[in-house]
Amino acid sequence: MDVAFFRAWIEEIVRVLSINRDLLTRLDAAIGDADHGTNLDRGFTSVRQALAETPQETPGQLLTLVGTTLIRRVGGASGPLYGTLFRQLGKSLGEAREVSLDELAAAFTAAIEAVKRLGRAAEGDKTMVDALAPASRALSAAAEDGIKPDDALERAAVAAAGGAKATIPLQARKGRASYLGPRSVGHEDPGAASAALLIAALRP
Ligand code: ADP
Ligand code: MG
Ligand code: MG
Repeated sequence: MDVAFFRAWIEEIVRVLSINRDLLTRLDAAIGDADHGTNLDRGFTSVRQALAETPQETPGQLLTLVGTTLIRRVGGASGPLYGTLFRQLGKSLGEAREVSLDELAAAFTAAIEAVKRLGRAAEGDKTMVDALAPASRALSAAAEDGIKPDDALERAAVAAAGGAKATIPLQARKGRASYLGPRSVGHEDPGAASAALLIAALRP
């Protein structure tokens, strides 16, 4: 996987977020403040501009710029959290021009640890972590089993989607939704839903 692969990932995220902006905002209206879709759509539109303005020669450079732009441009909890995810991905991938599935899986493991640290969130708290962590585990397992990258990314997408749906019966313990206490039960977490979209966008 080279810089063009990751550029295509970001382009796909931009496309999918613009289609799903209202859905994500509706999910956030139920248990938050109804801005998650617009936050991310605005953030990734800025990302696309930043990528167009600055040349990036490696996957690490590109993903670091994505993260920095999200931190700068997205207000709300999800900006720093997704920004940290992408920045740590970029940092883990370093200067390499080509990234193996093993390296991508390891980078995701580190990136999700960074998100959990920043948000002080664990799996089961009804956040984006509930979609990201199972996706990362699926990727690592697939890499270990020597499965080809396309199939590994498919498995990660399935795991993320399952993790997002599994937030529905949970009570939120982090973020705005936690203020609702038991009333947060019965709704999909918006950040878990967007995380599943981001992971699904990795599929070729
Ligand atoms: P805000 O809640 O500030 O309006 P967004 O609506 O953009 O920000 O993002 C909300 C999402 O961010 C939640 O659905 C949840 O997935 C995620 N989130 C919020 N707080 C945390 C946290 N402490 N750790 C991990 N994820 C969190
Ligand atoms: Mg919100
Ligand atoms: Mg907000």
